[in-house]
Amino acid sequence: MSSPPRAIAAPQRAWRQGLRLRFGLEGRRTDVGALDLASLERALVVVAHPDDELNAVGLLSRLRQAGVTVDVVVLTDGAANPWTDAAVVGTRSHFECRRDELHQAMRALDLRDAVLPAFPDGALRAHLEAATGVVRDELLRRSPGLVITFDPRGVNGHPDHVAAHRAVRRALATGPRAALAMISPPPPFSWALGVGFRSSQPPTIATLTLTAEERERKARVFDGYRSQRKTLRALTLGLPPRAFFTLFPTEWFLWLTAAEAHDWVRASP
Ligand SMILES: [Zn+2]
Repeated sequence: MSSPPRAIAAPQRAWRQGLRLRFGLEGRRTDVGALDLASLERALVVVAHPDDELNAVGLLSRLRQAGVTVDVVVLTDGAANPWTDAAVVGTRSHFECRRDELHQAMRALDLRDAVLPAFPDGALRAHLEAATGVVRDELLRRSPGLVITFDPRGVNGHPDHVAAHRAVRRALATGPRAALAMISPPPPFSWALGVGFRSSQPPTIATLTLTAEERERKARVFDGYRSQRKTLRALTLGLPPRAFFTLFPTEWFLWLTAAEAHDWVRASP
């Protein structure tokens, strides 16, 4: 069989790469424990909603254990979730409630600062330029050695998650360099969700299996988001968090070094 013309060879390669990633067959595999986290000094988490950081509790714990200062940017106000428990919100605004729950989670995870520009929940894509500016400013101000955000598909396809990923990518394309850890669904969830990563280079997949202590911390943070119980329970397939994190104890990250991330974001900002 003759090889396909160049114009369709690249899309075919990208498609095959996406398929291999989906089944966990692509990329160099490494354990987060084998990475030199202690040399980082600072890391910055950039997500869309208060509670998104739950996806990376294991990694955030390892970073703090290694003495890395971790700050958080939550881009939206989280105030559009129709499933938020009004009884928990009480007399506060929807945003105030979610902010308070985030601060509580940050105390449990020993995270430093929260930057809350409060773009409208559900409409981050319409504010991508301004969100990119916020992320760029924080990169310049804090010089994190590592940025943690969603994978290109936003882990579960939520448009705000995808927009948060794009804001980071754009900010890194024009701002200072940093390594990039993109939260990805581990198999079997990736089979259905994919990760949306395309590159001429295979990525490193950094995996982490939660220790019993990290599992308990993750469950406590989960329980602390009382106003979000209905949404979070849907994400754990209706299971209590301790059971879910015991059944699925791994976190997966597409991990690019600062040099790899620099090349990647500039190739497709
Ligand atoms: Zn979210």
